[in-house]
Amino acid sequence: MSDFMIETKCVQSGYRPNNGEPRQIPIYQSTTFKYDTSEDMGKLFDLEASGYFYSRLQNPTCDLVAAKICDMEGGSAAMLTSSGMAANFFAAFNICEAGGHIVSSSTIYGGTYNLFAVTFKKMGIDVTFVDPACSEEELDAAFRPNTKLVFGETIANPALKVLDIEKFADAAHRHGVPLIIDNTFPTPVNCRPFEWGADIVTHSTTKYMDGHGAAVGGAIVDSGKFDWMAHAEKFPGLCTPDDSYHGITYAEKFGQGGAFIYKATAQLMRDLGCTPSPNSAFLLNLGLESLHVRIRRHCENALAVATFLANSDKISWVNYAGLPTDPQYALAKKYMPEGTCGVVSFGVKGGRKAAETFMKNLRLIAIETHVADARSCCLHPANSTHRQMNEEELIAAGVPSDLVRLSCGLENSADLIADLESALRCI
Ligand SMILES: *Cc1c(COP(=O)(O)O)cnc(C)c1O
Repeated sequence: MSDFMIETKCVQSGYRPNNGEPRQIPIYQSTTFKYDTSEDMGKLFDLEASGYFYSRLQNPTCDLVAAKICDMEGGSAAMLTSSGMAANFFAAFNICEAGGHIVSSSTIYGGTYNLFAVTFKKMGIDVTFVDPACSEEELDAAFRPNTKLVFGETIANPALKVLDIEKFADAAHRHGVPLIIDNTFPTPVNCRPFEWGADIVTHSTTKYMDGHGAAVGGAIVDSGKFDWMAHAEKFPGLCTPDDSYHGITYAEKFGQGGAFIYKATAQLMRDLGCTPSPNSAFLLNLGLESLHVRIRRHCENALAVATFLANSDKISWVNYAGLPTDPQYALAKKYMPEGTCGVVSFGVKGGRKAAETFMKNLRLIAIETHVADARSCCLHPANSTHRQMNEEELIAAGVPSDLVRLSCGLENSADLIADLESALRCI
């Protein structure tokens, strides 16, 4: 399916039924798989033959959906995980162990920030955070001899900063390491980071890909473009024999296009088991079938809402990279010419109190910690996710106390604007 346009891939990639087979992907609701001889099964355990033996490692339904996402991103191999956090953890930990170091954009999802700053630290992995707007020199200065990867988000959640992917990819490659991009917010419909030099892409499929608030999940896609063997001393896990599989070397046995995902499946899934259920993968696939139609409507609604907010005298600032007046507009147009995402953030005049009153008076737009689903929702971080922080800490974290994050759903934008207008009238 790799010659087709992204819309066609959303609908048809991954699963091509043969004569008389089901049109929709089958749900293989089975923990285990049957073999005629022990030799047949032994070959699977030796990674000599490919096939299924236990759904903690791999399941056919999950693999069909992973193959679709792989095709959408233009990758060489992909896997699903049980959550977006599991995808980011696996993608990094697959090549960075105790004693390693990561360079990461500072504006990333809060969960990933915690994983890097707190949990990885306990595991002996150091992370240096850099401002995504930093110069090439500042970026170069963040690298160390033990740096194993660079990490960033195409559009950061919740800061909504757009990453200059080429700048980060060039820096990573100058230092002989891959760039991992969390592409959750734009989805491959609006941005395909491999086309700009990224090596590995991750997703929280919980967001737009599922799109209906139905199933938590994640995905990892490898571009197959990073030459592990050319930097073998940095990546012993991929380039030297694995004792837990009779001494196979992933980069030799599965090549540049297969090694990364093979190792993450055979080693990390085996040992850590963050696998999605086949039922969740089926739901995710239903979401993917309409992703290209939905994401455009999310973007249209967000642009209409952002334009309304920018013209309202009750609003002090609006952050939406799709607005022509936004300082990030040029960067967004370069990487996402067809649209960014459906999430807008803004400041309510009158600060924390006014934001509280505004939120209380919304009727259609619900208060949720979620984003990127069919129903519009919003969040006041100073009163919820970030409520342990004082005013100064909130400003340092890029979430001032007047900030409201609004995820525009698929409703009619006139109804959303009317809801915002009447709630703003109450402050
Ligand atoms: C939500 C989110 C995650 C975490 O995904 P879960 O599916 O909630 O585990 C990671 N990255 C980004 C950008 C997200 O928005």
